[in-house]
Amino acid sequence: MTTIRLYNTRTRTKETFTPLDPQNVRMYVCGPTVYDRAHLGNARPVVVFDVLYRLLRHEYGADHVTYVRNFTDVDDKINARAAQTGRPISEITAETTQWFLDDMGALGALEPDAMPRATQYIPQMIRMIEGLIASGHAYEAEGHVLFAVESYAEYGQLSGRTVDDMIAGARVEVAPYKRNPMDFVLWKPSTPDLPGWDSPWGRGRPGWHIECSAMSYELLGESFDIHGGGNDLMFPHHENEIAQSCCAHPEGKFARYWLHNEMLQVEGKKMSKSLGNFFTVRDLLDQGVPGEVIRFVFLSTHYRKPMDWTAEKAREAEKTLRKWYAQAVQGVGTGDPYDSVKTALSDDLNTAGAIAECHQLSHADDITTLRHTLQFLGLMGDDVPEWARLPEGTGLGELADKLHTVRLQAMQSKDFSQADSLKAALADAGVEVRMSKDGVELVPGPDFDPSKLETLK
Ligand code: AMP
Ligand code: ZN
Repeated sequence: MTTIRLYNTRTRTKETFTPLDPQNVRMYVCGPTVYDRAHLGNARPVVVFDVLYRLLRHEYGADHVTYVRNFTDVDDKINARAAQTGRPISEITAETTQWFLDDMGALGALEPDAMPRATQYIPQMIRMIEGLIASGHAYEAEGHVLFAVESYAEYGQLSGRTVDDMIAGARVEVAPYKRNPMDFVLWKPSTPDLPGWDSPWGRGRPGWHIECSAMSYELLGESFDIHGGGNDLMFPHHENEIAQSCCAHPEGKFARYWLHNEMLQVEGKKMSKSLGNFFTVRDLLDQGVPGEVIRFVFLSTHYRKPMDWTAEKAREAEKTLRKWYAQAVQGVGTGDPYDSVKTALSDDLNTAGAIAECHQLSHADDITTLRHTLQFLGLMGDDVPEWARLPEGTGLGELADKLHTVRLQAMQSKDFSQADSLKAALADAGVEVRMSKDGVELVPGPDFDPSKLETLK
């Protein structure tokens, strides 16, 4: 058995991972708020924790790992989207949830064992809040229920801050009914036009943090092994989860190993919806960047380092994967991954090291081990993906560049015949051509037939 070592944010050291129960290794990862397409940054924790999930399944057995990732389907951003669009909330959340699953599936992410939705756990949240009030950790004020941070001496330990630091550093909402400015909402009142549930404190809806405490308790128990998410969640979200869970269930330890991925960046800034510097996973897929290429680019950087997405990295990844697939397809069956790859991943998910080991396998022409290893890393299924069976230069991204160039030339020469025949051939292959002054976008439609693109090389 390989010794797995993981960097634990709680202790700020790399620790040997020992599960509470090797028969049931338990991991909880905070999932998306479902009101829009996932941006590329949102995919990073999905891929990182998918690699860990695969490693744990390999070490402990697929039936001995429980991975839970939630969907936040009650949130003010969702309410705002419904108000803007006039669409029912349930329709927005159902559609976005499916988009998320489709897009993450395209990146080779396995589905977790459970994907609870917050709205399915409202009674459990209410029960937990009642318990917190009864034990003096929470109080009711003007229809709200707030967690009293001063009631929990360890508040701030995960992120290494004191309550006073937090007050000084944070832009906290200073509501008159809060005893301490850092006290956070467990429950808040809803107006008739907003989603709400009956509760001992009137009709209302939960604050954000309580859902993860309630759902992890229901599905994994009062103590479990790993809790993950992006490092932007460390404070306040994870700090608040710890306070709620440890006070509601003092008999347990909540999560023992805390793992946080660094941010995907755009020009040095976190990719986020609020900064507007984002593109979605679907944008990339629609531009013809294969999911395996996106995954490979992610794996090339260690999860605790910030990373940028660049077109250059994607081109390099595609080249490497094409070469590996050509070898791996000649390998046989399914089987254990290369030991050195397991060793690399066991060292705090050294995915870049794992990729380097794959290069070694490729140089040594060890095609069967390469095949098994690529399958283990989620970079290959039973067969070579469709896109890699086509010659290079026939990817949609490259064809979009080509059409763009041909069109610019045509504008000069006034001879549009080449651009027109390229467009006709793309239409014949089921690709929608969207032209704008910024360039060309090629969007595969339902009848997309990649094999028809071969002649366009
Ligand atoms: P959200 O829907 O914003 O709550 O985010 C869902 C998940 O994506 C959380 O685990 C976040 O930490 C993570 N996340 C958001 N933005 C980024 C980013 N730019 N890079 C990496 N992870 C991110
Ligand atoms: Zn959470």
